[in-house]
Formats: sequence, structure tokens, C-alpha cells
Amino acid sequence: KAVHGEVEFLFYSEEMNQRAKEHLRIESELRQALVNKELQLYYQPKVSLRSGRIVGAEALLRWKHPVRGMVSPGVFIPVAEETGLILELGNWVLEEACRQVRAWQDDNLIMTPIAVNLSARQFDARLPERMADVMRRHGVLPEQLMLEITESLLVGGADNVISIMNELVAMGLALALDDFGTGYSSLAYLKKFPISTLKIDRSFVIGLPYEENDCAIARAIVTMAQQLRQEIVAEGVETAEQMSFLRELGCDQLQGYLFSPPVPADDFAQMLREGKRL
Ligand code: C2E
Ligand code: CA
Ligand code: CA
Ligand code: CA
Repeated sequence: KAVHGEVEFLFYSEEMNQRAKEHLRIESELRQALVNKELQLYYQPKVSLRSGRIVGAEALLRWKHPVRGMVSPGVFIPVAEETGLILELGNWVLEEACRQVRAWQDDNLIMTPIAVNLSARQFDARLPERMADVMRRHGVLPEQLMLEITESLLVGGADNVISIMNELVAMGLALALDDFGTGYSSLAYLKKFPISTLKIDRSFVIGLPYEENDCAIARAIVTMAQQLRQEIVAEGVETAEQMSFLRELGCDQLQGYLFSPPVPADDFAQMLREGKRL
């Protein structure tokens, strides 16, 4: 008869085993996905709280699995990051975003900057050259793009992270700090980095305007960003109450289901053509 501890251990290792198998399966299917063109970029508009107009969009990766249907990036990005596949995936995203921006430009659409998410692992010394190369090949200007990075990059940040950022900014690319407030950066920390935009994480937006703590955090972030002359984007805005609160705080842009979920490229283009407003 197994003692309690052994039983627990068996369950635990069985669980680990399942997890490892799941990772391997996702990894190999993701490789296939790249080959079979199962990946797609969706675009979620960012709107100005002052003018109500679309002033940009974020490109978000979608995987249409032939059997499993839509797989969330929340599931496959972490696996891709662990296995290193994120480099290929990230290159595909940059290629596709530039191709799309160029196609819209050729279609005479008045384009707003398209933001692309970067994983920490993509952030190496060759990134500026890779960016220059993909933009050159597609005939895309740096003002037409934006890069979203997360706080972990800054916190673990060696000196070369700052110099890579400086190189990107010198090329004309703007950097946004994603999921702000969930990591460990402080005011003193932030001013070392050439970041033009802060994105307030959805976890603080959810409680607005009823949760006192979320209101205090949102207020502190906006005040800080204003001191640093950074633009502020609130993500995950779903209600009119959240919007009013953020507008009063002096937040610059919002992104969220209240205005639009992430949509396929053609739908985003349609919103731009129609001049859809908040
Ligand atoms: P993120 O960069 O913080 O992206 C925002 C996420 O919030 C997206 O989830 C978006 O669909 C969702 N969202 C936007 N507005 C609302 C709202 O009003 N309510 C709610 N409940 N959710 C909202 P998504 O598309 O599932 O992406 C999840 C994460 O996966 C992203 O978080 C990002 O970290 C990562 N990701 C997505 N695409 C890429 C990519 O191309 N490269 C990398 N490295 N990461 C990516
Ligand atoms: Ca993002
Ligand atoms: Ca975010
Ligand atoms: Ca987030």
C-alpha cells in the first residue's frame, strides 16, 4: 500500500509528464503551422481619447489549428518562448506585419502605426539589423511600425538592452512598454530607457472606477508617464465607465472590446475607411 507521500509524488510526476508531452506536441504542431500557413495576424485598434479616432493598432498572433480550431497565443507563445521557436515565429510576425502595412499603403489607406509584440528572446544585438532588413525589403518606414516590449526585459536588463533600444530608436522606431504595472519597474528605472509609450495592464483597468486600489494605481501610472512625457495607452477597456475614468485621468489612448476586439486585416482596413470613431 502506498504511503500518502508516494501517491502524491506519482500524481505529480504524471502531471509533469503530461505537461512535457503537451509542450512537445504544441512545439511540433507549431512548426507545422509555420509551414502550413495556419498563422494569421489580427489587428486591434487603438483610439485617441481626445479625438475618438483610430490612431494605431496592435498586431496579435492567431493560430487556426486544423483540428483544434483557434488556439490562444496565451497557450502557444509561452511554449514557443521555452523552446526557442519564438525566434522563427517572431520573424514571421515581423514579415507579415510589414507585408500588410505595405499592402495597405499601396491601397491608399491612411495608415496608423502598427505595433508588433516582441519577446525578450528576440531582443538580441542583431535585432536592429533584422528590423532594418525587413523594413527595407517591404518598403516600410519606421514611423509605420511600433514595438511592444515587456517589463521583464528592462528588469533583467543588461547594458546591451539599453544600447539595442537606443539603436532602434535612432532608426526611428518607437518603443512601447507593455503590461505596465505587473513587473518591477519604478520611476527611477523607467527613465533610463528610451520608451515613448506606456501600456497600462488590463488587470488594473478591470476594477475601474469602483476598485479604489486599481484607481490609485492607474492614477499613479498616468501621473508618472506625464512627468516622463510618455504616451499612455490603457488596454482591455470594456466599459464606458472605465473609459470616462481614464479620460479624466488624462490617459491618451484606449484599446479594448469597448471599441473593438482584435479583427482580421480586412476588417481593420474597413474601420479605417469608414472612419469609425469612439
Ligand atoms: P498583450 O500583448 O497584453 O495583448 C493584449 C491581449 O488582451 C490580447 O490577447 C487581446 O486580445 C486582449 N484584449 C484586448 N482588449 C481586451 C478587452 O477589452 N478585454 C479582454 N478580456 N481582453 C482584451 P491575445 O490576443 O490572446 O494575446 C495574448 C498575449 O499573447 C499578448 O498579450 C502577448 O503577450 C502575446 N502575443 C500575442 N501576439 C504575439 C506576437 O506576435 N508575439 C509575441 N511575442 N507575443 C504575442
Ligand atoms: Ca502587447
Ligand atoms: Ca499588453
Ligand atoms: Ca496584458
